[in-house]
Amino acid sequence: MIVILKPGVNHDMRQPLIDWLKGQKLGVHISEGDYQTVLGLIGDTAHVDMDLIASLGIVDSVKRVTDPFKCCNRKFHPEDTVVSVGEAKFGGGNFAMIAGPCSVESEEQIVTVAKAVKAAGAQLLRGGAFKPRTSPYDFQGLKAEGIELLKIARAETGLPIVTEIMSIEHLSLFEDVDVIQVGARNMQNFDLLRHLGQLRKPILLKRGLANTLKEFLMSAEYIMAGGNEQVILCERGIRTFEDYTRNTLDLAAVPMLHQLTHLPVIVDPSHATGRANLVLPMALASAACGADGLIIEVHNDPMHALCDGAQSLRPEEYAALAEKVRAVREVSAL
Ligand code: PEP
Ligand code: MN
Repeated sequence: MIVILKPGVNHDMRQPLIDWLKGQKLGVHISEGDYQTVLGLIGDTAHVDMDLIASLGIVDSVKRVTDPFKCCNRKFHPEDTVVSVGEAKFGGGNFAMIAGPCSVESEEQIVTVAKAVKAAGAQLLRGGAFKPRTSPYDFQGLKAEGIELLKIARAETGLPIVTEIMSIEHLSLFEDVDVIQVGARNMQNFDLLRHLGQLRKPILLKRGLANTLKEFLMSAEYIMAGGNEQVILCERGIRTFEDYTRNTLDLAAVPMLHQLTHLPVIVDPSHATGRANLVLPMALASAACGADGLIIEVHNDPMHALCDGAQSLRPEEYAALAEKVRAVREVSAL
């Protein structure tokens, strides 16, 4: 249920209502907009007298929300959430670019790529330290050492770092990571999501390989229900019968999610396609359909990459892409 307060109702005027609602064993999520405040009621509202609340002088209207996701629902929070990381901002008309290799391989590799993507305009550096590989015999990442190398690259370039967590056991290693990524394979690792909900730092949540948008939003809800509201959603392609591409990029998810949620939505055209020559067209399409950012794999030597070389751009290809994305953004804003 949401309670929309009349314009001009201040903190003191609304507090008795909030206290009363909390007394009914309901959680109250307060969203203060420029003009109106919306109270989102979380819990079993079946017993709540809607007419009584609607009759109060401070209340504009009361609506039942049947969607199972509440905190991330746009009805609860009509204004876009903006997630800030250093100077970069995602959402609310802001666009940010994350780039870097699939995996951190060495200090030289990560620092070289970090400098190159920064020069091309990327605002954040990605790099996997813990890698969720399909085969246990493939490179599994440099783990703790990989995170240390990312910090060196951050110190050299000033770029905030984004890296994937696979287990709550490793949480302490991520204390000084700027954005924690939850990969597609862990989108429904509910225990992990709950722990990340206790943090107060941005979480990049990727859509699962075969998950609906409702399931995706329920996973964001796990994080937000713990009080961490800094969630960035990432569409990275889903499994379909098509196998020329690694996955099928569901671009309609971007405007659909924007209708359903106030959270920023970015796109990963690298994992979505699995092919370097499809990354540019899909990145441009993502910018055109309203994505709030992009995460793209870039490697200084894709032929010898330890992971995902086939979908990795060379730095100069990334620089050309970034320039075209900026042009599409300008046209889309017309
Ligand atoms: C990644 O970004 O390195 C990754 C493994 O992506 P996904 O979880 O989307 O497969
Ligand atoms: Mn990868």
